[in-house]
Amino acid sequence: MNTKLIIVLLGFSLFGYSQKKETKQTVKIKPKTEFVAELLSKMTLDEKLGQLNLPTSGDITTGQANSSNVAKKIEEGKVGGLFNIKSVQKIKEVQKIAVEKSRLKIPLIFGMDVIHGYETTFPIPLGLSCSWDMKLIERSAQIAAKEASADGINWTFSPMVDISRDPRWGRVSEGSGEDPFLGSQIAKAMVNGYQQNDLSKNNTILACVKHFALYGAPEAGRDYNTVDMSHIKMFNDYFPPYKAAVDAGVGSVMASFNEIDGIPATGNKWLMTDVLRKQWGFKGFVVTDFTGIPEMIEHGMGDLQTVSALALNAGVEMDMVGEGFLTTLKKSLDEKKVSIEQIDNAVRLILNAKYDLGLFHDPYKYCDEKRAKTEIFTNPHRAEARKTAAQSLVLLKNQNQLLPLKKSGTIALIGPLADAKENMAGTWSVATNMEKSISLLAGIKEVAGTGTKVLYAKGSNLDYDETFETNATMFGKTLHRDKRSKEEMLAEALKVANQADVIVAALGESAEMSGESSSRTNLEIPQAQKDLLNELLKTGKPVVLVLFNGRPLVLNDENATVPAILDVWFAGSEAGSAIADVLFGDENPSGKLTATFPRSVGQVPIYYNQKNTGRPLSNKEGKFEKFRSNYIDERNEPLFPFGFGLSYTTFDYSNLKISSDKMNFNEKVNVTVDVTNTGNFDGKEVVQLYIRDLVGSVTRPIKELKGFQKIALKKGEKQTVTFEISVEDLKFYNSDLQFVAEPGTFQVFVGTNSDADKKLSFELIK
Ligand code: BGC
Repeated sequence: MNTKLIIVLLGFSLFGYSQKKETKQTVKIKPKTEFVAELLSKMTLDEKLGQLNLPTSGDITTGQANSSNVAKKIEEGKVGGLFNIKSVQKIKEVQKIAVEKSRLKIPLIFGMDVIHGYETTFPIPLGLSCSWDMKLIERSAQIAAKEASADGINWTFSPMVDISRDPRWGRVSEGSGEDPFLGSQIAKAMVNGYQQNDLSKNNTILACVKHFALYGAPEAGRDYNTVDMSHIKMFNDYFPPYKAAVDAGVGSVMASFNEIDGIPATGNKWLMTDVLRKQWGFKGFVVTDFTGIPEMIEHGMGDLQTVSALALNAGVEMDMVGEGFLTTLKKSLDEKKVSIEQIDNAVRLILNAKYDLGLFHDPYKYCDEKRAKTEIFTNPHRAEARKTAAQSLVLLKNQNQLLPLKKSGTIALIGPLADAKENMAGTWSVATNMEKSISLLAGIKEVAGTGTKVLYAKGSNLDYDETFETNATMFGKTLHRDKRSKEEMLAEALKVANQADVIVAALGESAEMSGESSSRTNLEIPQAQKDLLNELLKTGKPVVLVLFNGRPLVLNDENATVPAILDVWFAGSEAGSAIADVLFGDENPSGKLTATFPRSVGQVPIYYNQKNTGRPLSNKEGKFEKFRSNYIDERNEPLFPFGFGLSYTTFDYSNLKISSDKMNFNEKVNVTVDVTNTGNFDGKEVVQLYIRDLVGSVTRPIKELKGFQKIALKKGEKQTVTFEISVEDLKFYNSDLQFVAEPGTFQVFVGTNSDADKKLSFELIK
C-alpha cells in the first residue's frame, strides 16, 4: 500500500539506515516485498517465532493466561506485538526496547480492543447498528482510529461481525444483530472507518475482523460453547459479514474460540485456508483469540505442541497470549510436523502489516505526545458521539404521544441506571474514562434547563441478589450498591414520584450483564426493578421507561403496562445527553431494531429471515393450531420484529411500483415507493426492502433484507424512494455451495419494518 513512502527518521537507527544525531533525515525504504524478504533472511528461527507471539501487556487481561517478563522477551526478539496497553508514553517506552535493544530492531505492533470508540465512546455495536446509518457508523470508527492512533495504538480488534440470533448470548451486544445483509454493510463501513483505505496515514489503524467464524451461534447461547451448523447456513447467513470485511481490505482476522465441523476454528484448515484465503482471497494475517491455541487442549485436540502445529498448519499466523508457537514450533519443525516455509510465510504476513502501517519507516509514527494531548476526547468528537448516540436509540412504544417530554414542570427520574455514569459506555469500552461519561441524571438536567425541576431517587438496586450484582458490574462499572432495605429505597422513590408530573424510570441491564461471558437464561429486567416499576405505575402518573440493555429483552409485562418505552442500549460516553435530547424532542428517534425481541426465551433462536415449514400457521392472530408449527403456550411472532422502531412523527407508504414485472439476468428493475411524513415533527425513516424467492432448488427464507435507505422528511414532506434490484441481490448459495440466482418469481416487500406487507412481485427469466 505504501511502498513509495518517503519517511523521516528521528533520532534512532534502523536496519543499518543510519541517521545523523538530532537532524531529520529522509530515507527511502525498499519496496515491501524486497524489504521484508531481506529482513526475513537475517532472522534466526527464534526471532521468526518471536514475531508470531502476541503477549498481553498485563494492563488488562481476559481469559486465563498472563505473560510475565515481557520487557525481557522483547529485548530477546521474542515478541511481535503487544495489546491493551493504554497511553502513548507507555507504548513509546516499550517500542523503544524493541527498536533499541533487540538485535534486529523490529518494531512492535500495538493492538487494543477499540470496539466502539476510544475515550470518546460511541454506542455499543448493537446500538450503533440500530442507526442504520452507514456514514455515521464509518465516522464513529474513523474517530476511534484517530483517538487510538493518537495514543500509540495502531491495530484494533474490531469490527466484531458475528451474526447472532440468540439474545441469551451476551456478545450480541458487540455485533450488528441478526441480518447478513445489514451486517455486511456495517462490516464494510467499520473497516473503511478504521483503515480509510490508507494505512500510511498516522491517524488510521489496522482493523481485525472477528471472530472468524460463527462465534455468534453457540449452543444454548452459552459463551464459548459448541457450534454445529450446516454449510449452506454458514455461507448464506453467517459468513457474509466476514467476507464483506475481507472485500473491504481488512488487514487482519481473528479466529473464534468455537469449533466448526468438530475442529476448533483456530485449528481449522478448511476455514482458514480453503475459505478465507483460497475462496475469498484474504492477504493479511490471522491472529488467534485470547489463548485460542492452548484452549484447543481443553477441546481435546492434543497437547500444546500438537495444537500449535495444528494452528500453524491451518493458516493461523499470530498466537495471542498462548505462547504455543514460541515454545513448541521449533520442536515441531525438527520433527517435520510443520515446515520452515509455513513459518516464513506467517512471519512475512506480520512484517507486511508492520510495513503497511509505516512502522519500519518510523516505529514512533503513532507516538506523538502532542497528538495525544489534543486529539483525544475532544469537544467536536464528543458532539459527534452525542449525535450518533441519539440516532441509535429505538422508540418501542409511545402511547398517547407521551414523548417528547415538555421542558417544564417536575420530572421524577428513578432507577438504578439513572445516576450511573460508570455504566453508560457499556461493555468492551477499554479506553473509556468512566468518570467523564454523562449520566442520564446529568443529561436530563442539562437538556431540560432551569425551567424544569428534576428529582431523583435510586428506587432499587440492580437486583435483589448482591452476588449477581457483583458479577454484573465488573471492571469498575459499579452501580454503588445501596445498603438500605428495599422498603426504604421504595419509600424514597414513591415520595419523589408523587411530587412529579411524569416519571422517567431508568431500568434494565447493567453494562456487564451483556458482553463476553455474560450469557443469560432469563431475558427479563431483574425482578427488583420490575417490582419498582410496578409500584411507580401504581401512582397513576405517566411513566416513561428508559431501557438500558445490551441484548434483546423479553418485555411483555412492560409493553402491557408502561405507556412509553425508549430503548437506549449503552450509548457511550455522551449517553446521558443524547438520551435527554431524544426524551425532550431535540432529536426525533429514528433507530430501528437489528435483532428481534422475543416474547419468551422459549422462542429463541428467533429471527425474521427464517424458513417456512411444511406446516406453517394459517392464521395471523397467533391462535394455536394442532399439527401446525407453533407452540401450545406462546405465539410464533416476536414482540418487536427486526427493523422495528417508532418516531415522534408518522410515515405513510403509498404508490409501490416496479419498473417491470420481468427481468433477465443482465437487467435490473427499479422498485419505487412514496413515503410521506404525516405527523407533526420532522423526522427520519429507514425505508426497508425485503424479497422472497418463492421457489428454489433449496428452501429459501420467507423474507430477506436486500435494501434500505434512511431518509429525512420535514413534516408534510413526501419523497419517492427508489431501490434498484439486480441479479446479484437474488443470489444465494445452493446445495453445492455455488452462489447462484435461479429463475422464478420473487416477491418484494417495502415498509417500515420486517413485517412490511406492501408487496408486488416480478419474474427472473433466463
Ligand atoms: C475476546 C476478543 C478480544 C480479545 C483480546 C478475547 O477474550 O474474545 O474479542 O479481542 O479477548 O482482548
